Amino acid sequence: MTEEPAAGAHAAPADPNPECPHCRKPPALCVCEGIARIDNEVSLLILQHPQEQDRELGTARLTALHFKDALIKIGLSWPSLTKILGRPTDPQRWAILYLGSVKAAGVLPDRDIVVVSKNGNAVDRQEQALREIEGIILLDGTWSQAKALWWRNAWMLKCKRVVLAPKRPSRYGRLRREPRSDGLSTIEAAAMLLARLEEKPEIETALHATFERLLARYRETRPVSAARRRR
Ligand SMILES: [Zn+2]
Repeated sequence: MTEEPAAGAHAAPADPNPECPHCRKPPALCVCEGIARIDNEVSLLILQHPQEQDRELGTARLTALHFKDALIKIGLSWPSLTKILGRPTDPQRWAILYLGSVKAAGVLPDRDIVVVSKNGNAVDRQEQALREIEGIILLDGTWSQAKALWWRNAWMLKCKRVVLAPKRPSRYGRLRREPRSDGLSTIEAAAMLLARLEEKPEIETALHATFERLLARYRETRPVSAARRRR
């Protein structure tokens, strides 16, 4: 039996998989430097499936790095939102980005963010529903991973559901298939939601700039795999 080095042991100089301690990306893809933390009022919670392993193009950690009030949890199920946050909270004041097939444009065509009921209809008094939101929950993973998180966490049914109608497609292009019908990456979805809920367009600008830097690095350092993925 060979002993494996403990996780978190000091990286030897020959570490074949060095990574940035903040974004957990290989150094060539790290764009953390210069990210200024935004003092957000609407909290952000990202739940990541344990098998989400897109170390190169995943954006969950990068998204969380932008906000003072952001939490990222890796796992499959949690007993309640209160347990995750470690403080009493009302799940009805949190909104989860809904994975279902409801298209925002089909519900309320002139809106970019729509709060929908369990039946997939737009709720009455959209503005009030949006103002009630204290926190946003994003599920990070492939479509099937995100679905697994949804079905294993019954408390999510108590949260508000929001759907997005982005004005342009994801900046991922064809680099990656995304779980939701809105097609956005986690960082783009967070940008859209928090900028809109806090009425601070600069949030969207900052997150998009980071995402563009990541994609540019990716295309520079992985021209072959990028080309292959584009097929
Ligand atoms: Zn980094």
